[in-house]
Amino acid sequence: MRPFRYHRPTDVADAVAVLAAEPQAAYLAGGTNLVDLMKLGVQRPDVLVDVNRLPLDAVEELPDGGLRIGATVRNSDLAVHPTVRRDYPVLTRALLAAASGQLRNMATTGGNLLQRTRCPYFQDTGKACNKRDPGSGCAALHGENRDLAVLDWSEQCVATHPSDLAVALAALDAVVEVHDTDGARDVPMVDLHRSPGAHPERETTLARGALITAVRLPALPAARRSTYLKARDRASFAFAAGSVAAVLDLDGDVIRDVRLAYGALAHRPWRAYRAEQELRGQPFSPELAARAADAELAEARPLSDNGFKLPLTRSITVRVLSELAAS
Ligand SMILES: Cc1cc2nc3c(=O)[nH]c(=O)nc-3n(C[C@H](O)[C@H](O)[C@H](O)COP(=O)(O)OP(=O)(O)OC[C@H]3O[C@@H](n4cnc5c(N)ncnc54)[C@H](O)[C@@H]3O)c2cc1C
Ligand code: SF4
Repeated sequence: MRPFRYHRPTDVADAVAVLAAEPQAAYLAGGTNLVDLMKLGVQRPDVLVDVNRLPLDAVEELPDGGLRIGATVRNSDLAVHPTVRRDYPVLTRALLAAASGQLRNMATTGGNLLQRTRCPYFQDTGKACNKRDPGSGCAALHGENRDLAVLDWSEQCVATHPSDLAVALAALDAVVEVHDTDGARDVPMVDLHRSPGAHPERETTLARGALITAVRLPALPAARRSTYLKARDRASFAFAAGSVAAVLDLDGDVIRDVRLAYGALAHRPWRAYRAEQELRGQPFSPELAARAADAELAEARPLSDNGFKLPLTRSITVRVLSELAAS
């Protein structure tokens, strides 16, 4: 048993100040990822700063028609929020595709975005892992890599980001509200996570100790026609082998606008700008959707065991866009 201290901050500034003063402190939200990693010895915080009592648990409609989701809103509450279900069904579907009912009751918006990779070598302290122990190597590169990245990986790390919610938020052009020692700022969701490059231990663009306080969704009428499809080994309680979040706006059969993001392909949720470019302004057809997915994946570099992710991604893209076009 490794001792650690517990701190319940009085407000956001107090929380940020403790993280700034204590290099080994960590925020505790639902604990569904952090506590598991502490038990495995992967994370070893000296102080847990419990954010659960901070006033960050509201979902508010914004005057411009958007929505602000507090960082401690539970995944299960967000999934069934009436405005989310009506205006952003892609979010409800992504949330309900994740984990289990019990986990979603605990898991929070902020914690979900900052959950760590499920790479099996990261979770095994007996194995080389540059993310857990910089400079030690990457056991996954020539090891068991079926669930790992095909896009944008580096020789230092081939891990994927596991969150379903993050993929939907990337497609929706969400903005993450953050507090750090310099004050409050906004970070576009697509810029929150980093590529692994030479420093896979740096997973986000946030300053150390930054606290996510909320996520803002823009008003996006087209998102009423949106969905999320997750391919996985079991029908529930499994991380994605591949996933796609999509928003489709049609004028007759012509694609006026489209937003696509992929999960399980890279170190970060993957916004598919290249595929969107292929699709915009064209009459929809399943063949076009397949070509768009192929264009997005043109620079993919599958590892020894995960080449299946390319045809899988193409086929879930075709299915999701065809369903949305027919709806
Ligand atoms: C068996 C199992 C299956 C799962 N399946 C899925 C799945 O299919 N899809 C999926 O998306 N997820 C899945 N998960 C992961 C689960 O969704 C995450 O564990 C959960 O969302 C994390 O949220 P939390 O509030 O519990 O975070 P915590 O565990 O409390 O924290 C996670 C990380 O975020 C940091 N953090 C928390 N809140 C903040 C904040 N406000 N600001 C800054 N940093 C913060 C913590 O310090 C920690 O590093 C699964 C988990 C388990 C155990
Ligand atoms: S892929 Fe990344 S997380 Fe997995 S062992 Fe390699 S460095 Fe570690």
